[in-house]
Amino acid sequence: MPPGTEEIQNAVDVLRAGGLVAIPTETVYGLAADAENPRAVGRIFTTKGRPPSHPLIVHIAGAEQLADWADDVPETARLLAERFWPGPLTLVLRRGRRVPLETTGGLETVAIRVPDHPVALELLTAFGRAVAAPSANRFGSVSPTTAEHVRLELGDDVDFVLDGGPCGVGVESTIVDVTGPAPTVLRPGGVTREDLEAALGHALAVPASSPVRVPGQHPSHYAPRARVVLVEPQDLAAEAVRYADHKVGVLVPPALAGTAIEAHAVVPLPADLADYARGLFGYLRDLDHQGCDVILATLPEEQGLGLAIANRLRRAAGPRTGEA
Ligand code: AMP
Ligand code: MG
Repeated sequence: MPPGTEEIQNAVDVLRAGGLVAIPTETVYGLAADAENPRAVGRIFTTKGRPPSHPLIVHIAGAEQLADWADDVPETARLLAERFWPGPLTLVLRRGRRVPLETTGGLETVAIRVPDHPVALELLTAFGRAVAAPSANRFGSVSPTTAEHVRLELGDDVDFVLDGGPCGVGVESTIVDVTGPAPTVLRPGGVTREDLEAALGHALAVPASSPVRVPGQHPSHYAPRARVVLVEPQDLAAEAVRYADHKVGVLVPPALAGTAIEAHAVVPLPADLADYARGLFGYLRDLDHQGCDVILATLPEEQGLGLAIANRLRRAAGPRTGEA
């Protein structure tokens, strides 16, 4: 059952009182607070264990509100907003005066998007303002894609959870910086590079590391408890044997569906990349719950949603230094 009017009103009351509401979006569940309330935003950082210098995404109800939250909105931003909102695209723009520096991690830019989820949009409309919302997980861990994931991870640290069912996209938004001379992808996500290039009419640079501080780009982000090890597809079965003294979980790509793999847990991956993206964080969580201490995975081709999936797998496999 989707949340009714009463639950939406409860959530609005919590936001107005400076509290935290977990909200469903099409990407992942967000941990939302009033974007204009520095104390409320401060609670997001303490709850997640996230360094306060890491900026949050401001969620608004529609592109027509863009000028309320950002200054000097360029034509490119309007074009991308028109084409992709509501949807999994975040635009980095010049900070409007309404957005406190606490929300932007001290930056003079602000990240903004319109989520494509009926419950999130209903909440934003009823609230009448914007919410700042990073993913509703502890810093460095895997983003939640169901309300149950949020409850298990954050418990009573979140004041209210709106359950909007499982997230349809399953990986975070694509972040595009439109403050420079040419748009730059800061993080691959739910909107593909190919779709962005088609909308813009030109090729896009996707830098390996961003000049701007982007916590989603820290090596240890999106990591389950188990150690994620990336291997070549032809080595998967042999690697599972090599780790035989561990509890091994294996994400098996469709091309290897018929291969016998000795492991504690085996997850056959869907052939469709949208299905894979939707399931990815849930698979990692499930393997953790099954007690795996090593997860073996291969990288998909980095086209379409494969770019975002490969990015999350690489980061899940990255060094854990500094992880909270
Ligand atoms: P998450 O914690 O997964 O919601 O990630 C939010 C993402 O938005 C992070 O990768 C942030 O770095 C990014 N972000 C937010 N504001 C800005 C900004 N002003 N400039 C660049 N990236 C930003
Ligand atoms: Mg996150």
